[in-house]
Amino acid sequence: MSATIDHIYGLYSTIMRIAVVGAGAAGLAALRHCTSGTYDDQVVCYEKTDQIGGTWVYREETGSDRYGLPIHTSTYKSLRTNLPKEVMGYPDYPIPENPESYLSRPQILNFLNEYCDHFALRPYIRLLHHVELIEPAVGSRKWSVKVKDLQRDTLMTESFDAILVCNGHYFEPSIPKISGQNIFVGEQIHSHDYRVPEIFNGKTVVVLGAGPSGMDLALEISKNANRVILSHHVKDTILTVFPENVVQKADVVELTEREVVFADGTKQQVDVVFYCTGYKYSFPFLAESCGVRVDSNMVTPLWKHLVSIESPTLALVGIPFYICAFSMFDLQVRFILRHWHGERQFPARADMLRDEAAEAARRAERGLKKKHFHMMGPEQEHYFDDLANIAGLTPLPPVLTKLHNASSQRFLDDLVHYRQDRYRIVDDYNFVQL
Ligand SMILES: Cc1cc2nc3c(=O)[nH]c(=O)nc-3n(C[C@H](O)[C@H](O)[C@H](O)COP(=O)(O)OP(=O)(O)OC[C@H]3O[C@@H](n4cnc5c(N)ncnc54)[C@H](O)[C@@H]3O)c2cc1C
Repeated sequence: MSATIDHIYGLYSTIMRIAVVGAGAAGLAALRHCTSGTYDDQVVCYEKTDQIGGTWVYREETGSDRYGLPIHTSTYKSLRTNLPKEVMGYPDYPIPENPESYLSRPQILNFLNEYCDHFALRPYIRLLHHVELIEPAVGSRKWSVKVKDLQRDTLMTESFDAILVCNGHYFEPSIPKISGQNIFVGEQIHSHDYRVPEIFNGKTVVVLGAGPSGMDLALEISKNANRVILSHHVKDTILTVFPENVVQKADVVELTEREVVFADGTKQQVDVVFYCTGYKYSFPFLAESCGVRVDSNMVTPLWKHLVSIESPTLALVGIPFYICAFSMFDLQVRFILRHWHGERQFPARADMLRDEAAEAARRAERGLKKKHFHMMGPEQEHYFDDLANIAGLTPLPPVLTKLHNASSQRFLDDLVHYRQDRYRIVDDYNFVQL
């Protein structure tokens, strides 16, 4: 496919046929800009579930759905956002006024539905359509997309000029290999399958991982569990004062029939091992010939964490994490459309690869692992500015990064109370805490 790159500069200054995979927050942003009238593109969005909203749709079931597909959502019943609504909207469609900053799961889902209706996106979405395979079409510069209509149980193959992959990255559990997992007689569950705390009533639970999910869920289940052991290797001291029945321990290095063994050599009998160990990037529908690889959770080769370097008419929206996600989706989509329509030119393949390698080297120098390659946090402002400058777009306001950082710090410092904080954005640079 590398020969394609030389052909695509400015190729699609006219109408393109674009496929969007997924109708979560990213897919909706993709649709909103593909249908804005700026380019007259034809667009089809395939969504495998029966609703828009992606991970914000709560489903009681875990495992597989009635079509035999893995349940996508990782949302639990009581979920509230871990970011204030002031940084969670889209640049041209903020979350409306509300006395609270940290909203509930249904409020976010409702917001996404309003966004969808406001921009009249539903006609472009084919619900219950599962994208099974995407591959470069033989003998042309197009993409062949094989889709299953789940209700009719029929397969079809359609042809597109470009693909926006918006399939999310919180659905494929990452579970570390620990010696003894096969002999442990208690329960082992990943946060992807967690819905309600009652399943832990009266139990001793070891929570593995102190990322956003591990911290949040250790606190949530402490009201039901008898004892919660939060096992992690976070070097910075976690200042949060947990309830008395939550203790922190080093990593779990082994499981026996009924116990967990920690890195400091101590042991504890537990009923449940609760893996809050994150997710793997996964694109099961991309054929190998698409040229996208996932190596230790680094998706590569991508230019600007977004564009397939091997085939730039393929873009993976939403890869960076610890970020103001909806704003980023919006910016990434506008960035890619400008390039696809020839208003900006992609650099040569070698330059894109060099760019990616340079960023990987810079991150490695800072001690970051491959799995942190797409992590943004305080760096997101730089990423946003980079995209905006290259594509000649209005930059996202710096206040987004500022408030995202402040809220993340509050999460670490006072997990128990930070969701009571209320913020107001004053201008592009400043916010106030009310
Ligand atoms: C527990 C949890 C809490 C979170 N809290 C926050 C928060 O407070 N603030 C925040 O900003 N972010 C939060 N996030 C991150 C959240 O994932 C993003 O905000 C955002 O919703 C992701 O949108 P997305 O469209 O990229 O992916 P998703 O929401 O996962 O949507 C992807 C869509 O693609 C569909 N799909 C997948 N594969 C196929 C296929 N082969 N064919 C057709 N359709 C397909 C899925 O069904 C789904 O509808 C949280 C995530 C989790 C898991």
